[in-house]
Amino acid sequence: MNTNNNEQQTKNIKGIRIQTVNYFMIAVSCIFYIFILYITIQVSVRYNTLTQNINDFTVCSQDANELETASDYLTEQVRLYVITREPEYMNAYIEELYVTKRREHSLENLQNANCIGEESLSYLQHALDESNDLTVSELYAMRLVGETSGQDTDILPDVIKNTALTPEDAALSAEAKLQKAQALVFDSQYLSAKERIRENTSSCLDSIISDTLKAQDISITAMEHSLSIQRVYISILFLLNIATFIMILVLIVKPLKIYVNCIKEEKMLSILGSYEFKYLALTYNDIYNLNKANESMLRHKAEHDPLTGLANRSTFEHLQQILKGNTPLTLFLIDIDYFKGVNDTYGHKTGDQVLIKVAKTLQKSFRSQDFVMRIGGDEFAVVMTNITLEQRSVIDQKISLINKFLSDENDSLPRITLSIGAVFSDQGFTEGLYTMADKALYHVKENGRNGYALYQDIY
Ligand code: GH3
Ligand code: MG
Repeated sequence: MNTNNNEQQTKNIKGIRIQTVNYFMIAVSCIFYIFILYITIQVSVRYNTLTQNINDFTVCSQDANELETASDYLTEQVRLYVITREPEYMNAYIEELYVTKRREHSLENLQNANCIGEESLSYLQHALDESNDLTVSELYAMRLVGETSGQDTDILPDVIKNTALTPEDAALSAEAKLQKAQALVFDSQYLSAKERIRENTSSCLDSIISDTLKAQDISITAMEHSLSIQRVYISILFLLNIATFIMILVLIVKPLKIYVNCIKEEKMLSILGSYEFKYLALTYNDIYNLNKANESMLRHKAEHDPLTGLANRSTFEHLQQILKGNTPLTLFLIDIDYFKGVNDTYGHKTGDQVLIKVAKTLQKSFRSQDFVMRIGGDEFAVVMTNITLEQRSVIDQKISLINKFLSDENDSLPRITLSIGAVFSDQGFTEGLYTMADKALYHVKENGRNGYALYQDIY
C-alpha cells in the first residue's frame, strides 16, 4: 500500500531534472567547444594566409627589382667597356647575359610564384623584352669597341665576334667606331629604352602592391569575420556557464541549505528544487513519518502498562523528576485488598479483568489533567496537580464513590475494595513524599483496609 502510494507520488513529482540539465549542458558545451575550435583553426589559417601574402610580396618585389638591377648592371658594364675598353667589363657583361642570367631567373621566379597576377607579369615581360632589345645595341657597341682595341678580334668572345658590323661601320676609323659605340649606349634612344624598363618595373611593383593589398584585404575581412563569430560563441559559452551556476544555486545549493536546516530542526523537508531534490524530500518525509510512528509506538510501549493501558512505573518515576518546585499536588497510592485471594479463587484471567476495571474506574473518577498510573501488580498511583487541602472534601467524596462502585455487584466480576494512602505537598515531588503516601496506605491496611487516609491527618 505504502509502496504504491510512493510510486504514485514519484509519478506526480514535477520539476527540472538536474541529470537532464546536466546532459543538455554537456552536449551544448561540447558543440560550442567544437565550433570555437573550428573557428580558431580558421583564424589561424587566415593569419597564415596573411603572413604568406606579406612574404610573397617581399619575394616578388625583390624579384621585380632584381630584373631592373640586372639590366642596370649590363648597362654599367657595357658603358665601362666602351669608355675604358678594358675586356674585364666585356667579360662581366657576357657573364651576366649568358651565365648569371638574373633577369630571366627573376622573371621565371615570378612566373612560378602565386603572388603575382597576369598584369604584373606582362609589365615585367615588357621590361625584359626592352632589355633584350638593348642587348643587341650593346653587343654591337662592344663589337665596335673590339675593333678599336688594336687586338686580334679572334680573341673576342664568340657572341661579340659573331656580331656583324654594317659595311659602313666596318669602314669607319677606330676613333669613329669608338664614338659610335659610345653613342649607342649613351644616346637618347638608349636612355628612353632604359626609362621604359624602369617604368615597366615600377608598374610591375605597383601592380604587385595592389594585388597584395587586395589579397590582404580579403584575408583581413575573413579573419575579422571569423573572430566576430568566435566572440559570439565564447559569449554563448560564457552565458551557458552563468546559467549553469545559477541552476546549481537554485536547484542544488538553496534546497540543500533548506534541507540541512529542516534536518537539524527535525522537521519534514519542503518539496522544492529540482526533481531529484523533490524525490529526496518525499522519500525522506516517508521515512521521517515512519520513524515518528515507530518512535511514538515505542515511547507509548515504554511508558504504558500493556494490560490496563495506564501509564506505568517508569512514567511515575519520570513524573517525580518533572513535578518539582512550587506545584501543589496530592499523591495517592492505591492497593487492591486481598487481591491474591481474587486470583486464587477466580483465576488469573479474572484477576486481570479486575485490574482493568480498577484502571478504568480510576481514570473515569479523576480529572483528565490528573495522572493515573499502574505502578505494580495490584498497586496504582494517582497524582492530582494544582490541588489544595481546602479541596479535600471533593477528594474524600471521589474516593468513597470509587470504593462503593467497586464493592457493589454491578457485573460478573468479583467485588473488591481499595486501600488508599494519600499525601499533600505544595512543593511538588519532594524527597520522602512517596514514603509518606506509602505510610498512609499501610495505615489503612493496618486498620481494616477498604478506606482512605491522608498522611497529614495521621502524622
Ligand atoms: P493486601 O490486601 O495486603 O494487599 O493483600 P493482597 O492479597 O492484595 O496482597 P498483595 O497486594 O501483596 O498481592 C498482590 C498480588 O497481585 C500478587 C500477585 O499474584 C497479584 N498480581 C500481580 N500482578 C498481577 C497481574 O498482572 N494479574 C493478576 N491477575 N494478578 C497479579
Ligand atoms: Mg493488594
